[in-house]
Amino acid sequence: MMGILLMLIKDLSIKYNFNYIEGLDFVGILNKKIIIPYDGSVMKNRCRAIKWAYGLHVQCRNYPEENERYCFKCYNKKHNICGDINERLRVGILDFMDRKKRPTITWMNYIKKKGLDENFCLKYLKELGINIPKEHLILNVRPRGRPKNIKKNKIIVNNIFDIIKSSLCKEPIAVHLYKIDDSDLGIDEEGNLYEFMDGGAVRIFR
Ligand SMILES: [Zn+2]
Repeated sequence: MMGILLMLIKDLSIKYNFNYIEGLDFVGILNKKIIIPYDGSVMKNRCRAIKWAYGLHVQCRNYPEENERYCFKCYNKKHNICGDINERLRVGILDFMDRKKRPTITWMNYIKKKGLDENFCLKYLKELGINIPKEHLILNVRPRGRPKNIKKNKIIVNNIFDIIKSSLCKEPIAVHLYKIDDSDLGIDEEGNLYEFMDGGAVRIFR
């Protein structure tokens, strides 16, 4: 039954050119606890304001006031909204910076931030037939800006191959690593991830 309903909404969304997620929302089958990330499209019949949504910066799903761009709520705080969908459309999905100068996070980062179950969330999207942009599936471990408690030490990093072929006695490289709080991990200036080990760190290739 559910499958048929979803197929129907998908077909109608293509035929009548409306946003599939808007259609799912219209029939009330979206889980309110899992926010679906912005995918680059616009819900034409909804409020055009951008909502913070833990940093996901999604389009507001309320209905706009008659002949207005925004819903009642967003209209009233017009000068205080995070942004307008038109501003979001102008830049890449994750490149949007809201009017309060806050960057956009990936959906995977949102899942971690909210403490949601990753597999459950992925299954949820799959069941509803929602495809989200691939960049939303990346967990960004690099803290934004400079972390407060920087431990900027010169740490010897051993290339993983150097460890395997230790007999080669290759010169180890020294890089600056920023320690990620409460973990054995660190990142370098380029955002590469390392695991701290006795007397050094090893780069983790993902
Ligand atoms: Zn709104």
